[in-house]
Amino acid sequence: MATTPIDDFLLLIISSPSGAGKTTLCNRLRGEFPELRFSVSHTTRAPRPTEVNGREYHFVDEAYFKEMVRIDAFAEWARVHNHYYGTSLQEIDLARTKARGVLFDIDHQGARQIKAKLPEAVGVFILPPSLQELERRLRGRGTEDEQATVRRLQNAKGEIEHYGIFDYVIVNDDVEQAYGKLRGIVFAERSRRARKAALCEALLLESRDKV
Ligand code: ADP
Ligand code: 5GP
Repeated sequence: MATTPIDDFLLLIISSPSGAGKTTLCNRLRGEFPELRFSVSHTTRAPRPTEVNGREYHFVDEAYFKEMVRIDAFAEWARVHNHYYGTSLQEIDLARTKARGVLFDIDHQGARQIKAKLPEAVGVFILPPSLQELERRLRGRGTEDEQATVRRLQNAKGEIEHYGIFDYVIVNDDVEQAYGKLRGIVFAERSRRARKAALCEALLLESRDKV
């Protein structure tokens, strides 16, 4: 018997430098695959005008976040662009009971921690076609002030250096093409032999019973 239960539950991590388009692609995935539950992280950064507490993030202050760290409430956490972000263990438990998978929008530090704890997790890294285009998108989104924008652009190289921990890399040049690749990964991962072993065995049992 395998010690790690490999089943139909998909743990999908999406990471990218800020502005490459992972939120855009994640939102498309969430629309097409509602059975993949989006993991709502906790963060100490302030909400953007369109963000709703409990939907994009659980927005908390630093004291609350640090208390969660102290009581071991996180599956992973990291300091990213000068703020704290973390995935609570509860988010993963909720997905396991309510959904067929979980979608993490987290940085490379979080991806590394999740993969260490849950090696069956699949990591997808989204890249911009160029750093110039990354800057254009980040500025075009207009959600960060100048200081935060510069920090995010400076951190981009550090993010890209960690491409090696991911299973797939998608260049988000044309969004339709990039999304086509991402949904292709979901279908391919769902079709892995290891995830279908129980189904194969059930078919074999059925044919054996008929003898
Ligand atoms: P991230 O979540 O990685 O920080 P977003 O999904 O917020 O990035 O995308 C950053 C900006 O770039 C948004 O304004 C988004 O609409 C835009 N964008 C995303 N993908 C593309 C693309 N393929 N071509 C042009 N603009 C894009
Ligand atoms: P943003 O502030 O643009 O929403 O996110 C900034 C960065 O933090 C992104 O790279 C995003 O993937 C990452 N992030 C969001 N939630 C988490 C989390 O729970 N853990 C970690 N490690 N990173 C996160």
